[in-house]
Amino acid sequence: MLTGMTAVTPATAISTAPHTQTPRCSRCGHETRRLVRARSLDAQDEPTGDWHHECSNSEACELRQQLSTAKRDSARTVRRALDAVVDAAFAHGETPSVAEIAESAERIGPAARDATHWRLDASDAWQLVYNGRDGDDWSLSNCGTWIARRARRTPELEQALRELDLLSTRNQP
Ligand SMILES: [Zn+2]
Repeated sequence: MLTGMTAVTPATAISTAPHTQTPRCSRCGHETRRLVRARSLDAQDEPTGDWHHECSNSEACELRQQLSTAKRDSARTVRRALDAVVDAAFAHGETPSVAEIAESAERIGPAARDATHWRLDASDAWQLVYNGRDGDDWSLSNCGTWIARRARRTPELEQALRELDLLSTRNQP
């Protein structure tokens, strides 16, 4: 019988509450309770700065900082490569005077009302750039308040769009 086995005890709920979490190192984000004062940069070795948490193992702390920098750099490199694939595909595309996009076309990209996004139908990929702001040249809109540009739907382009979408979803707070 599974009934009754999934109940969360009050103790579990309390121990995971944010205010009871272990403080984190201000340099690498690792959990630590060691509280130190920052040293000011101009007065050498003068601990005049604010109190903050810092790892006791400075070597491990340094490695963790390097790792997170490397991860950030590599995410940036990946994003740039994916952007290049998308840009190249749509550079070879075309902007029809009236864009007719199937209602069933899948939407990929940020959900924000005026965000650039993409639609995929059976044979085409569409890039939609919002063009309904004050100051925009509304005569350029070819799909409601959007400028829609069409490229051939290739597996490479589709994969780049999906990976970009994943990257931006993951980076949201
Ligand atoms: Zn640290």
